[in-house]
Amino acid sequence: NGGGGGAAKLDRIQVLVRLRPLSEKEIARGEPAEWECINDSTVMFRSTFPDRPTAPTAYTFDRVFHSDCSTKEVYEEGVKEVALSVVSGINSSIFAYGQTSSGKTYTMTGVTEHTHEERAFVLKFSAIEIYNEVVRDLLSAENTPLRLWDDAEKGTYVENLTEVVLRDWNHLKGLISVCEAQRRTGETFLNEKSSRSHQILRLTVESSAREFLGKDKSTTLVASANFVDLAGSERASQAMSAGTRLKEGCHINKSLLALGTVIRKLSMGSNAHIPYRDSKLTRILQPSLGGNARTAIICTLSPATSHIEQSRNTLLFGSCAK
Ligand code: ADP
Ligand code: MG
Repeated sequence: NGGGGGAAKLDRIQVLVRLRPLSEKEIARGEPAEWECINDSTVMFRSTFPDRPTAPTAYTFDRVFHSDCSTKEVYEEGVKEVALSVVSGINSSIFAYGQTSSGKTYTMTGVTEHTHEERAFVLKFSAIEIYNEVVRDLLSAENTPLRLWDDAEKGTYVENLTEVVLRDWNHLKGLISVCEAQRRTGETFLNEKSSRSHQILRLTVESSAREFLGKDKSTTLVASANFVDLAGSERASQAMSAGTRLKEGCHINKSLLALGTVIRKLSMGSNAHIPYRDSKLTRILQPSLGGNARTAIICTLSPATSHIEQSRNTLLFGSCAK
């Protein structure tokens, strides 16, 4: 659907929803599933609470995935096209957005498993973590903060970032494990950190038309696909709803807020100034957002009663991105 004058705008950002199953804990607590996917594009909220009588509310997106869907299905039917645009030289970003425990990491870790079977390309891999606006290399044991630089040709880039040329699929899998281990190193409050940090796994694809392979550099296309496991969205909604009554010590995730603003402005298709420079995350991703870049946001959703407000906020974010 859609089309007409707004077609370009509608196509730019794909918004998907993935509902996770109730966890064993939630089931043990007797929490019912408050959300249900009623078809391929609609997720429905129907509260069963007598003290909170709410009319069923339907939310419509490009695609919604019910709790039995595998990550492979989410990839194949939801984001494959966006991810593979890199093969044609088009940058892309794929985000997992949602509160802590809604399934972001589960989704993004699985998504990268099905990405590239192609062997005709040079693939490079790099991995970044942003925590408290500090950028670190997840492939380096040194753990030193890295600086961002602006270059007329390259755009914004991360100084001294490790970039590994991939040999094969197992090589990539090994590197992803290194990143996971690195993310955990020295962390006393692991959950605290993983709910506040962003992880960007980047695959850079250099491709040439076969007949020109190795002959003429000008026919080489270079693009990157970014798989972004975002900080828990409860940070952003806390900060926004708290407004001026912001509690002392409440940490605002600058990058998450900035991303929200950038996505909203891009989705409005306005020519207004897009504030990429407001955070490390949006600076790093600028070449893969806006312009002709392809973007998909997977909103991960917990069906649990205790998460209703956060689930609503997540879908609101998703709706604003359309
Ligand atoms: P987040 O990264 O958003 O904080 P996680 O990805 O760590 O959340 O998921 C929280 C828990 O729920 C994990 O134990 C994970 O294995 C489980 N989980 C998340 N999504 C699904 C799903 N679609 N199917 C089955 N289990 C899931
Ligand atoms: Mg996570």
